[in-house]
Amino acid sequence: MMDDDALIAAARAAAEGSYSPYSKFRVGAVAVGSGGEIFTGANVENAAYPASSCAEATAINTAVSHGVRKIDTVAVACVDAEGAEGAYPCGRCRQIMAEFGVERVLVSAGEDSEVREHTLDELLPHRFTL
Ligand SMILES: [Zn+2]
Repeated sequence: MMDDDALIAAARAAAEGSYSPYSKFRVGAVAVGSGGEIFTGANVENAAYPASSCAEATAINTAVSHGVRKIDTVAVACVDAEGAEGAYPCGRCRQIMAEFGVERVLVSAGEDSEVREHTLDELLPHRFTL
């Protein structure tokens, strides 16, 4: 089992795979399945901006594509956000997290940033569910 610092390090490494020629904002994410499985993802942009995919969505959708249906933790890191507040998940990604039961979200922006831990309840209260 990877600890939180190792998960953020893996997210930062995953950002190296980012395709972000438009925003220049490289983001990586790690999704940890309930069985401890690890899946990574990076943001993949498109000239038609809405066709882009966030790192968190890439990681979660990869996990789900491999049969995972419950994700415990998502870690996200941005390698270009000098001085930024951190690469917090967008609203769409928070809803994707809700679908697969994410409980913990770890966020870090850069090499010296502290790892911030949030619950999904904090990030997306009153979310839509069926
Ligand atoms: Zn997003």
